[in-house]
Amino acid sequence: MKLLKEKVMTEGIVLSNQVLKVDSFLNHQMDPELMREIGGEFARRFAGEKITKVLTIESSGIAPAIMTALELKVPMIFARKHKSLTLKDDILVEKVYSFTKRETNEITVSKKFLSPSDRVLIIDDFLANGEAAFGLARIVEQVGASVAGIGIVIEKSFQPGARLLEEAGYRVDSLVRVAALEDGVVTFVEEPN
Ligand code: 5GP
Repeated sequence: MKLLKEKVMTEGIVLSNQVLKVDSFLNHQMDPELMREIGGEFARRFAGEKITKVLTIESSGIAPAIMTALELKVPMIFARKHKSLTLKDDILVEKVYSFTKRETNEITVSKKFLSPSDRVLIIDDFLANGEAAFGLARIVEQVGASVAGIGIVIEKSFQPGARLLEEAGYRVDSLVRVAALEDGVVTFVEEPN
């Protein structure tokens, strides 16, 4: 996605060889026009997959996920990282190790929003080791629903997440693929035109 690539190049801040900061359009301040384009692009890519729900994890996944769900005309659910007082019984729980926070969180989704007939599109802002995406996939599979695909805004292809998810049989579709974050510079994976 050309616009997204340009945003990453002009506004992305390389914090280390592992971590990219994009808080001016995705992780803190959010760019609504860009989110709309992202939603449209995911909807196009997964158009044939008969998606019934979009699932993400709070908080940075919510904007791209809601715009995708709007385009696909299906509901969007976000997994919570902190237990809500109103979310007591009948919850689906999975442990997810956070790449950026270096801690394990229990993520939760209310059982009533997923059923075995659902075909779920998982959306997240970044893909590193695949922990968040695998956790979301396990939540979907706990109820016997199926994962129709995984849509990622920024994949860091030098980390193993995409490969591990594909090896596990999931379709992974990333809008931008970063090959390296070396010496403060973002390098992209060459895409065929
Ligand atoms: P994974 O679970 O695939 O190891 O890491 C993905 C999750 O960690 C995403 O939900 C995202 O919030 C966070 N994350 C991983 N790498 C980065 C990064 O380079 N920059 C930012 N801003 N978040 C990241």
